[in-house]
Amino acid sequence: MLRFTPILLAILYALAMYWFSMWRTHRELDAKSSELVDPRLKRLTDRLAASLNLSRIPVYIYEIDPVNGLAAPDGRIFITRGFYRKFQSGEVSGEELASVIAHELGHVALGHARRRMIDFSGQNALRTALIMVLGRFVPFIGVWIANMLAALLGARLSRSDEYEADAYAAALLTKAGIGIEPQKSLFRKLDAITQSRSGVAPAWLMSHPKTDQRIAALEQLQKRWAVQS
Ligand SMILES: [Zn+2]
Repeated sequence: MLRFTPILLAILYALAMYWFSMWRTHRELDAKSSELVDPRLKRLTDRLAASLNLSRIPVYIYEIDPVNGLAAPDGRIFITRGFYRKFQSGEVSGEELASVIAHELGHVALGHARRRMIDFSGQNALRTALIMVLGRFVPFIGVWIANMLAALLGARLSRSDEYEADAYAAALLTKAGIGIEPQKSLFRKLDAITQSRSGVAPAWLMSHPKTDQRIAALEQLQKRWAVQS
């Protein structure tokens, strides 16, 4: 029985972390967001909604400056104030912003938003369990190995999520008649912003794989779909 105690503790810890993270995320978003009302953007999100047989897709504005889009574990889609400002100033087009919304919808539809929260707490639990076990056998570097293993697993999971969400967005944008070009042009624009600001990448890019590779993956899809149709 005693042998299983560390594992049991790790599971309890993971559950507690999960509920706490959910609660904290939703509280932060509720306090700093409101539904986005923009007729120009609504015309585009209504086209996405029609392709999904939905009456509309509500999008919320999150009052922070970093350029980012996110999908909450409860399924709400958020665009940051900073990202919306780029649209208002004309730096980012409505179609490009719609491509971000489609990408975040992909995270929701594919269950990433909720799973990611589980991954986060799961990673913590895994780390705790590994530290308990490895720490006993390799006293000094056990913690270091445990951290590295947990981080490696997390990075691998999130990268494949991004490609899946991109593919979902590409299919949805194609069906809605908007096409894949806005996705690609936005990646290039955000990359350019990164270059001009001495390497400070927008948050939305930092949490995602390399731009070139994402564009290449989209072009693969475009090619495959062109053959099929
Ligand atoms: Zn993403």
